[in-house]
Amino acid sequence: MNEQDLLQLDKQHLWHPYAAMDSDMPMYAVERADGVMITLKNGQRLIDGMSSWWAALHGYNHPALNQAAAAQLAKMSHIMFGGFTHDPAGELAQRLVKLLPAGLDKIFFADSGSVAVEVAMKMALQYQQAKGEGKRGKFATIRAGYHGDTWHAMSVCDPVTGMHQLFSACLPVQYFLPQPQTAFGKPWNEQDMQPLRDLLARHGEEIAGLILEPVVQGAGGMYFYSPRYLENARALCDQYGVLLIFDEIATGFGRTGKLFATEYTAITPDIICLGKALTGGYLTLSATVTTQTVAQTICNGEAQCFMHGPTFMGNPLACAIACASIDLLLASDWQTKVRHIERQLKAELAPAARFKSVREVRVLGAIGVLEMKEPVNIARLQPEFVAKGIWLRPFGRLVYIMPPFIITTEQLSRLTGGLLAVIRDVYHESSC
Ligand SMILES: *Cc1c(COP(=O)(O)O)cnc(C)c1O
Repeated sequence: MNEQDLLQLDKQHLWHPYAAMDSDMPMYAVERADGVMITLKNGQRLIDGMSSWWAALHGYNHPALNQAAAAQLAKMSHIMFGGFTHDPAGELAQRLVKLLPAGLDKIFFADSGSVAVEVAMKMALQYQQAKGEGKRGKFATIRAGYHGDTWHAMSVCDPVTGMHQLFSACLPVQYFLPQPQTAFGKPWNEQDMQPLRDLLARHGEEIAGLILEPVVQGAGGMYFYSPRYLENARALCDQYGVLLIFDEIATGFGRTGKLFATEYTAITPDIICLGKALTGGYLTLSATVTTQTVAQTICNGEAQCFMHGPTFMGNPLACAIACASIDLLLASDWQTKVRHIERQLKAELAPAARFKSVREVRVLGAIGVLEMKEPVNIARLQPEFVAKGIWLRPFGRLVYIMPPFIITTEQLSRLTGGLLAVIRDVYHESSC
């Protein structure tokens, strides 16, 4: 299809994420992507700074992942998971159990991150019911979180940026705590625990679970906070019979510098959610993983089973690619790569801290963030980035880079250089 026809069709018929139909927002027709490079239909090539939203760790069109997909396709793309099991699911389970903190070994495969969160929340509710704690119908979380777009996932997203207003008539009301004030790497302030301590003292018996993105809050604010918060939360959850759920859909598979952000702590959650980079960005797949205790309790309950089962559960094609992606990651020297990206992002984004339009520059692992003082005009910035040959997609007040781990030093410099040049230009920053 030629570029103009495609853009015309798109404008007429296709929704895009958080976008108006028939909007005047810039839209680019993409033809293919290889490694770190995205090729547009008009022939222009862009360096990818987004990893397609945390997912494409190894870049695009990777021979090893293509090979895993082709090999599985030749056997079966999908088969129902009711009554059947298969090698890709078994092999992925084997890998995940080995990588995850000890004790997390009961795995539920579903089709997206949001569903993984729904599954985690349902697990918590069924667990509490089975324990005779059916009055625990609520969840607690911290502000500025993001857990997905489906119903209960949405209920624990930040109440301000998460559109609670729009759906307030029918969205479950949850308990929101302030963001931990102690940023990552800063001296721990015990005062950060007071809101959770107070909430549990007052409402502990109504709460089934506490759900958190460990250490790195993603789409809700790109904020990095102290792992000590999580360790203290673990102790409080134990004290009040509340399950601790970690949403590692964005942070999993090395992005923060640890394989899982949980590894910044000395604790283990009761339930962990994985997604996004699980398949190296190839297909949608998620895993909700819990402990023997939680699983056993659920199965001893009234329903005698866990009440969930998506049509595409344990999809063999996605599982086979996930196995190959994990093998590729572990065989690479990803820690060194992520550390190198982190150092380079810190050095090259540092000058932006002096820009009058920038509130803060933050870097952790392979994530570099400029938090602006005002919401950015994407329609204005996006074409500037594309003109510089880089692919960045800001949202709200956040302009950020999270490249595939395979990016070269030179490519990353073009991303940071392009980003700073555009901000200087658009915001008339004096170049110093
Ligand atoms: C992206 C994301 C989700 C939702 O995943 P989808 O696959 O988009 O449904 C949930 N939690 C976190 C932390 C995420 O980053």
